[in-house]
Amino acid sequence: MSKPVILTAPRVSSSLHIGNYFGALLPMIDMAKNHGNDYQINLFIADLHGITTPIDYTLMPSIIQSYLRTFVAAGFPLDNPDLHIYRQSFIPAHSELAWILDCFTSMGEMNRMTQFKDKSVKLSEERVSVGLFGYPVLMAADILLYNANYVPVGDDQTQHLEFTRDIAERINKRFADRFPEGIFTIPYNVKKQHEFFGKDQGLRIRDLQDPAKKMSKSDETGKGVIFMNDDPDAAAKKVMSATTDSVGSIHYDYATQPGISNLLEIYALLAAQPIVEVAAEWEGKTSYGELKSAVADQVRLFLTKFQANLANVDDTKIQAKLQSSEAAMNHIANETLLRAQKAVGLR
Ligand code: ATP
Ligand code: MG
Repeated sequence: MSKPVILTAPRVSSSLHIGNYFGALLPMIDMAKNHGNDYQINLFIADLHGITTPIDYTLMPSIIQSYLRTFVAAGFPLDNPDLHIYRQSFIPAHSELAWILDCFTSMGEMNRMTQFKDKSVKLSEERVSVGLFGYPVLMAADILLYNANYVPVGDDQTQHLEFTRDIAERINKRFADRFPEGIFTIPYNVKKQHEFFGKDQGLRIRDLQDPAKKMSKSDETGKGVIFMNDDPDAAAKKVMSATTDSVGSIHYDYATQPGISNLLEIYALLAAQPIVEVAAEWEGKTSYGELKSAVADQVRLFLTKFQANLANVDDTKIQAKLQSSEAAMNHIANETLLRAQKAVGLR
């Protein structure tokens, strides 16, 4: 029996921020450390997704390296052969399967994807690429190639996971006569994913300047985003100038005080304290400045410590891990691709 597969990937854009760290990376690394023997864990770099929107291509290699180093500094174990880190474009089957899936996907389905709408409104029409429009199909290939069962998705990605399940079911059904075992493994639905990954799943750290939106790597100014490679003092300053409200007292309530609630949330994550405790501690207090200072101190401490870890990361070990993971992943991915190619008569 092969182990259940857990899979996730950040898209290459700019530097990783504390939202990526606490929302995606840390839960995955905790899983790797505590259950690394029960699951196969794939943490990969979505470099092909990185070129769907405008990016400085010359920076691509250094951004990729910085993501890999961040995984390791955050504690991803490199010595377990069932835990994999790899670069998407080094496994050509991603692009090849995406093409086959494209041919089973309707324009209407892609037109309904809200992430495309959200991302494309930020770009001028000439810069909205077909790659961006079709990226959920590539994402489906990313998941299906490895027979992944568990994919921790934030609420921005739930529609894409549902699409992945739909296309896999559609193709399995279409070729059931010749492939009764199915071509693809269907990942669990969103509800099951949430049950499996627990509360961290819904985590959405907000932008400090505009708490109506989430912190994003590709934010235009980055003023409300705490990047993992921010200078600790500069990051503390971002906290001090965070947008709050005019209520005048502190309550953990995203509906009425999103900025304040976000600061409490960030404090809880950095101090590794339950949010209910932190919320109770600050409930009703009136000094927003005091809360900001407390969060700023935590941010400074956290980044200083993290960046010290980062400085100790051994790049040669990362390189060796990439080599072995990418060889193993090519093997698994090519098996899945071959089933799909046989189904449609290409092999
Ligand atoms: P981009 O602007 O390039 O889309 P992003 O910040 O949205 O960048 P992704 O690469 O899309 O990051 O997502 C990587 C992982 O981080 C995903 O699992 C996503 O759900 C999670 N994530 C992204 N932003 C946040 C956030 N603000 N809070 C918590 N988790 C987040
Ligand atoms: Mg995103």
